Amino acid sequence: MSEPIRRIVIVGGGTAGWMAAATLARYSETTLPLAVTLIESSDIGTIGVGEATIPGIVDFNRQLGIDELDFIRSTNATFKLGIRFENWYQQQHTFFHPFSAFGMEVDQVGFHHYLHRMSALGNAINFEDYSFACELAKQGRFAQPHSTPTTPLADYSYAYHFDASLYANYLKIYAVARQVTHLDAVVEHVQQHPETGFITAVVLQDGTQVEGDLFIDCTGFQGLLIEQTLHTGYENWQHWLLCDSALAIQTERTGDITPYTRSIAMDAGWQWRIPLQHRCGNGHIFSSHFTSETKAKEQLMQSLEGKPLNEARRINFTPGRRKQIWHKNCFALGLASGFLEPLESTSISLIQTALAKLLNFFPDSSFNQADIAEVNRLHNTELEQMRDFLILHYKLSQRNDSDFWHHCQTMAIPDTLAHKIELYKSRGHVVMYDQESFQEASWLAMYNGFHVKPARYDERANKVPPQVLQQKLQQMRQAIVQAAQSPMKHADFIQAHCQASSWSR
Ligand SMILES: Cc1cc2nc3c(=O)[nH]c(=O)nc-3n(C[C@H](O)[C@H](O)[C@H](O)COP(=O)(O)OP(=O)(O)OC[C@H]3O[C@@H](n4cnc5c(N)ncnc54)[C@H](O)[C@@H]3O)c2cc1C
Repeated sequence: MSEPIRRIVIVGGGTAGWMAAATLARYSETTLPLAVTLIESSDIGTIGVGEATIPGIVDFNRQLGIDELDFIRSTNATFKLGIRFENWYQQQHTFFHPFSAFGMEVDQVGFHHYLHRMSALGNAINFEDYSFACELAKQGRFAQPHSTPTTPLADYSYAYHFDASLYANYLKIYAVARQVTHLDAVVEHVQQHPETGFITAVVLQDGTQVEGDLFIDCTGFQGLLIEQTLHTGYENWQHWLLCDSALAIQTERTGDITPYTRSIAMDAGWQWRIPLQHRCGNGHIFSSHFTSETKAKEQLMQSLEGKPLNEARRINFTPGRRKQIWHKNCFALGLASGFLEPLESTSISLIQTALAKLLNFFPDSSFNQADIAEVNRLHNTELEQMRDFLILHYKLSQRNDSDFWHHCQTMAIPDTLAHKIELYKSRGHVVMYDQESFQEASWLAMYNGFHVKPARYDERANKVPPQVLQQKLQQMRQAIVQAAQSPMKHADFIQAHCQASSWSR
């Protein structure tokens, strides 16, 4: 007879570990009583990066019952409407990837087909003119969507930038208040059942054994349980995602707090700028095959806009995924489950979606293999779509000023992505597969940003006479510009509603 599982042991107290602890504490409170223990080692520490998110995080916090403004104040957070890509298509060119659609579908025909028609008629068209979020971002303004003017165009999502260690701490307080046991200790080895290979306990430095039914591996890149113990295997995607190194540094914040992340393409990778209330996160992601640490560091230091607050720190990674995130009674989350790269801030979102899968297929003592296989299938499919979306950024660039960019344009790409690009180029159709994290609007933002023009558009877009279409687009543009006037400047919004005690302006 299968029994409900009761004892869950989480190893690792970074963002992944505490997101897991908070989620399971909530599950225990509302659904199935569990004894959850989290073991982390303050001697080992956390990765200390991972501060930009995508909109799912808003729902994640909401489902935990977290008050948004309290969370913003406590984590020095700011709001994120999307990402501004600088120098990606070509040097001196910028475009914006908003968390919202462009325009509105008309008579079941995607809005972008109407824009392609206008373009074919000789008009200069930029999708961003028809996105409320893009306009807000350009003006440096922010409002929560429910408080914006009532126009159907003002429908957008948003995410956050936050201090990663403060967020982990915030969730720690939440989880410990809900009976999660917290141990600060080093796990020295892992015990397995001699026949099944299932994990039975983790053993701490002082010899204490912590037994469990389900073990969640949140130990970061090393994957102490999923890889070092269970040898699940890793799939390396570096032939598609060339970047394998990061240099991260924090600076004093200067200038306005942008309601977006900046991503600036460099010779052999790109740099991020993440504005928080009290400082700015900066980093250079690069390919060690195409540049050296010395050169990447020099470029990073030269481009910093504020005074450095620490030394630049090198982090190496292998872009790819763990072959299975769930193996036997071990479930891997966060960096232990794999890492692509931070280009679209997808890693924290993957922790969240993996946790949702764990709850959807919550095991009992039988650890049904079909359930485990389905979770792995769903996760792997999700990751493949995400991988393709990231590769797109490199593949579509028209930069030819370095070996890195030349390689990106000429490299082979997955068939799934090649098919997508071909369908868009031939008829403006956006192919969407199962388990896509980035919806049609995001793919359109990329195609528009990288100036990909389809050879044809949907015939039905020809039904509207050109003058009527032009007039409608003008009205839409005016409505967007007008509606974007009323929200506050992003910094003013934070100051008025959710200013942290360490705020600096
Ligand atoms: C350069 C870079 C930039 C990134 N930027 C983003 C971003 O903008 N957005 C985003 O979503 N994601 C980003 N990520 C990913 C993000 O940082 C991670 O997904 C997130 O921080 C989760 O990390 P983690 O908790 O899995 O691992 P870690 O933070 O490394 O935590 C590992 C934990 O395991 C513990 N541990 C390890 N071994 C033991 C042991 N033997 N005993 C006890 N405890 C142990 C450690 O003490 C620590 O608590 C970025 C990653 C990198 C490398």
